[in-house]
Amino acid sequence: MQLLDRYNQVLNSIEQAISDSTRQNLKVNLIAVSKTYGSDSIIPLLDAGHKQFGENKVQEAEDKWPALKEQYPDTVLHLIGPLQSNKAKNAVALFDVIQTVDRLKIAKFIARECEQQDRKLGIFVQINTGEEPQKAGIPPIEADSFIKEVRDSMGLSIQGLMCIPPVDQQPSPHFALLAKIAERNGIECLSMGMSSDYETAIRLGATHIRVGSAIFGARDIQA
Ligand SMILES: *Cc1c(COP(=O)(O)O)cnc(C)c1O
Repeated sequence: MQLLDRYNQVLNSIEQAISDSTRQNLKVNLIAVSKTYGSDSIIPLLDAGHKQFGENKVQEAEDKWPALKEQYPDTVLHLIGPLQSNKAKNAVALFDVIQTVDRLKIAKFIARECEQQDRKLGIFVQINTGEEPQKAGIPPIEADSFIKEVRDSMGLSIQGLMCIPPVDQQPSPHFALLAKIAERNGIECLSMGMSSDYETAIRLGATHIRVGSAIFGARDIQA
């Protein structure tokens, strides 16, 4: 199957999942995760009018996106991979949404760069719902205090929460947990669901799904 066929198939599945669900909010933002794929794969989607893309590495995004964003200025680029503080300046310059805020230090760097560069970004806090030691994100038990601290002392407004469930578990309890943390903290957006489970995530209230291989095809490079 070709790229645009896969893309249209994903769009249809999203519509189907929304209409099969009982959710009130009928809007789901599809983030096309273009990591490891080059501009030749990305341009057909931009030409089809797709606007939201995700990358997991600042350096890789800097190689591809400045030129593409110049040609397609209303593109919204999401950072969905870990951010080191020495890359915060470049990340704030290039990305429109940072989904992986998980340390006060990085929140502070982002806040400072937004101020200095006069940029306004969407901010998501990553929650490590599976409490996996090797995975980034705030442990669920610390989520409320972290969110409060980011709001109160950094003055950043938090648009959403993001999670990546453990690969070897059913994703539903993780999606439900993320939704619960968001609700009790008055946070509107939920970034959850990837190629294998975005329909489940939509059923559980995802506002942003991050879909890579179901659109671009299987990645042959480890991302
Ligand atoms: C790669 C990646 C995705 C997309 O994964 P697919 O299984 O290809 O859809 C989503 N979220 C994050 C954080 C990723 O790194």
